[in-house]
Amino acid sequence: MPTTVTDPYDILQASILSRPRMMGSAGEAETIRFLKDFLKKHNLHPSTEEFTWSTAFVSGRKYLYLLLGVLAILFNISLRLAQPLNGILTIVLVVVAISVLVFGMKGLLHDKFKGLGKSFQGENVLCDVPSRNNEKDAPLIYFTAHYDSISSNHPKLNTISMMALLLGFILSVLLTLTSVILNLSDYANAAWNGQPTIHVINLTLLIFSAVVVSLSIFSQFIERTNSSPGACDNGSGSAILLSLAAHFQQQPPAHTRLKFIWCGAEEWGLYGSKGYVKAHQEEIAAGCERSCVINVDMVGSELAYLQKSGFIFQKPLNKQLNVLIAQCAEEADIAARPFNSVIGGNSDHASFQKEKVEVCFFLSNKDTKIIHSPQDTIEKVKPEKMADAVELIKRMVTKLDKQFL
Ligand SMILES: [Zn+2]
Repeated sequence: MPTTVTDPYDILQASILSRPRMMGSAGEAETIRFLKDFLKKHNLHPSTEEFTWSTAFVSGRKYLYLLLGVLAILFNISLRLAQPLNGILTIVLVVVAISVLVFGMKGLLHDKFKGLGKSFQGENVLCDVPSRNNEKDAPLIYFTAHYDSISSNHPKLNTISMMALLLGFILSVLLTLTSVILNLSDYANAAWNGQPTIHVINLTLLIFSAVVVSLSIFSQFIERTNSSPGACDNGSGSAILLSLAAHFQQQPPAHTRLKFIWCGAEEWGLYGSKGYVKAHQEEIAAGCERSCVINVDMVGSELAYLQKSGFIFQKPLNKQLNVLIAQCAEEADIAARPFNSVIGGNSDHASFQKEKVEVCFFLSNKDTKIIHSPQDTIEKVKPEKMADAVELIKRMVTKLDKQFL
């Protein structure tokens, strides 16, 4: 590739960024080499930082699903025991189930089950663009994009079935609890016959549990492979960051420092960004009021960004950055679509958000159906959308540079 190429689509098309590059594969090493070479050629003096990543999150999640399946079976057995044992024993099971779910999820998110997987060393690739006035403590904009790709042997069913499993399990717990209360009332109050209602609830529970058990068995057969080119997820974001870094090296903002981070092992549980945040925690926390994160995790058939996320009550992702995105998009006549999602924290910005840094998150939500599969090819990425992303982010930086003053 000629050194002068800075068009994001050209970078993507001509490089490893539109070919498989799962962590641990030859593609990972080639990607790191490519990113460093590109940055060197543009006088950006890249560096790398090591972090530890592990298969523990993915394996731990499988074990958790299996445990939920076993608990769903135990609910049904326990409720069929004689009164009042069915009430008392089932209450104990419900408490165990809630604890397993809460501690299991928390433990997974905070890497508490390291023993469940194998650990490896990975590298984040970084480069800095000082402010034009070279102010050491100038406000800072972090740009993040994960460079690793992944494929699943069941890409379409993966997320949907796991969401269904969790929802089915929560409903099973609620039904079990209702059945327990009715069973104990029926036992304590001889004048009341709760059996017909209990029967209906137990039958409904049986149906939900069957779904949970089937999905928990299915989850054991989900494997990760290196068959996705990952052009959209997240070759696109990685190339957009390269293009932006090359541009700002030539025209740095007057009063703002820029830090570009190409994160590894995002697909295994955000390990690269978590590693970066852990290594720079004090600095990030101290500067949280004067910094922000622009995370680009795929631009493909559209340019879109996360507005609100949450399961029942949806919370806005940020206070100001999305307003800025909308403003810049309107001024430049760029189509950038805000969207809401149930899961919002599933990319590298989440690691910074924990340190109270304002973040924004570009994700072409419409392309989530083709990612993590061999269908995630360069043909799915629209060159004009990548160019729009670069233009939009350049404008955001210009405005942020004035705003921080
Ligand atoms: Zn991604």
